[in-house]
Amino acid sequence: MRHGISRSNRFLGAIAGMTALAILLVGFTYAFTESERLDIQRDSSQASDLWAAADRLASDVNAQESAIDDYLFSADPQAVSRFEAAAADETSVAAQMQAGAVNLPGLDSAITETENATATWRSSFARPAIAAVEAGGGTSLAPFTRGSSPDEEPVSAAFAELTVQLNVVESDLRLRDDALSATRTAATAFGLGVLVLSAVLSLWLVRRFGRTLEKDALRSGILNQFTEAISFAADDTAVAKANLEALALLVHPDAGVTHVLNHSQDRAVPAAIVGGAVAEVLSLQTLSTCAGMIRGSMYVSSDLAAPLSVHCPIYPAERGTLACVPLVSGEAIGAIHLYWERPRALPVEIRRSVAQFVAHAALAIGNRRLLGALRGQACTDARTGLANSRTFDRALENALASRTADEPIAVLMLDLDHFKDFNDRHGHPSGDEALRTFAEVLRSCMRDGDLAARYGGEEFAVLLPRVDPAAAVTIAQRIRARTESTIVSLAPGITDRITVSIGVAAAPIQALERISLLRIADEALYQAKADGRNRVVYLGEAAPGLDQTAAEAEISPPATDRAGPSLVQGRGE
Ligand code: GH3
Ligand code: MG
Ligand code: MG
Repeated sequence: MRHGISRSNRFLGAIAGMTALAILLVGFTYAFTESERLDIQRDSSQASDLWAAADRLASDVNAQESAIDDYLFSADPQAVSRFEAAAADETSVAAQMQAGAVNLPGLDSAITETENATATWRSSFARPAIAAVEAGGGTSLAPFTRGSSPDEEPVSAAFAELTVQLNVVESDLRLRDDALSATRTAATAFGLGVLVLSAVLSLWLVRRFGRTLEKDALRSGILNQFTEAISFAADDTAVAKANLEALALLVHPDAGVTHVLNHSQDRAVPAAIVGGAVAEVLSLQTLSTCAGMIRGSMYVSSDLAAPLSVHCPIYPAERGTLACVPLVSGEAIGAIHLYWERPRALPVEIRRSVAQFVAHAALAIGNRRLLGALRGQACTDARTGLANSRTFDRALENALASRTADEPIAVLMLDLDHFKDFNDRHGHPSGDEALRTFAEVLRSCMRDGDLAARYGGEEFAVLLPRVDPAAAVTIAQRIRARTESTIVSLAPGITDRITVSIGVAAAPIQALERISLLRIADEALYQAKADGRNRVVYLGEAAPGLDQTAAEAEISPPATDRAGPSLVQGRGE
């Protein structure tokens, strides 16, 4: 998801950059062509002025000709004045035109040509004609009739050339204007094109991003449900089931199976199955042949029918797609196989999500197992492997609380005799060995439901649910006798024996709650020590069925002269 966003961001950045460049390009094009536009504007207005001036020039020439005409027929002196005024205006207009045509050589020479032609006409025709009329005393001179003068032709030719040159100027302006428009239109079209492209790309990106968000929302929804499910899961199987169901929602396999190592770590058992996958219990050897296990991470065979594709012995299939995902949390705890009947590509995001979901499940199972192991450590005594005093107290509380009316419960407190001497004789490590040997003796005397605990130092306790005082004494005597007869091996050729004194307390006859029961058992134990050790003492009323003789018959002879015969003492005895 983060990857997708950064890619989209990069893409959006590129679009924004492209748009900015296009806008800059259009801006620069308009800025750079602005002076040309102003030049064209100025030159256009200049060309209009020149056209107007040329018209005025032509009308001045016409005015001169018509004045000469008038004068030739009427000899009116006012006609001469009109002639001179038009000639003067023509000269001044021509001068103005030449000033405006400095950079237009063709036009400039056409103006000069026109001026020369009209000047020639004036000097060779108009003025001689005026002089001839004046010399003739005001008589009109028919031979000078307008249009018959040979000097008029160059004037017409010069005016024609002037018109051509003005047209050249105008068409040049049109060309420049066209080029400017074309440049600006091209830049604008390019800019608009880029803007449209950016808009389309951005829209596409936003839609794509929206779809990615939708997918991510769906994925995190499944992940949330899955996380919640595993927090309530009662055992590894429930975690594996929740995981496989979540994966099924995520990637829709046609079949899938999760194998999880059993607690003794010698078999992988199918803990969850979807889509009717066939699954069997696997040996560790078989599990280790899984492609994902070998690789140590997810392995996907996209098309099992393709040549050289890797087949997994745990999920044998000839075609389709198979994903082998190891379940690892510190150490391997199983494997997941997801199968699709048709070959399909698993995109990177999907693989990442699958890996994430499986990592969650592996962590949950791994943590559960670790917690179980820690709980076990917290409940047991490390030296002997028996329950510790806390576990014993809790078990006794529970047994008393859940006891039904009249149901008996017995408690034994046991203390090794002269254990300090034993340590002194053989050393502390040998004392530890003796403690372990005694723990074995205790275990050998326990039935289902009984609980033996190391209560502290060389003191032990036994909980006997549903056992009446008579049976409790019998069991205690069995423990005492087996302890006495057990040889403790300390080193090659070195052995010794230990004995134990046992106090018995019984519920409900003597007490109904834990502290009192333990105190009574302690008192009985104290009594056993006081009476010479290596014996069992029950200080309660002799309960029905407490067959003292039978109990005593089981007692072996004392191992040393320090330990007298064990006996069951009633308080009354
Ligand atoms: P008694 O018959 O009166 O019970 O005599 P005792 O020597 O057993 O009694 P005491 O309480 O005087 O001595 C208990 C001894 O048990 C002292 C201690 O060194 C030893 N002990 C307690 N815990 C351990 C242990 O974990 N390992 C070893 N080796 N000795 C232990
Ligand atoms: Mg002691
Ligand atoms: Mg002792």
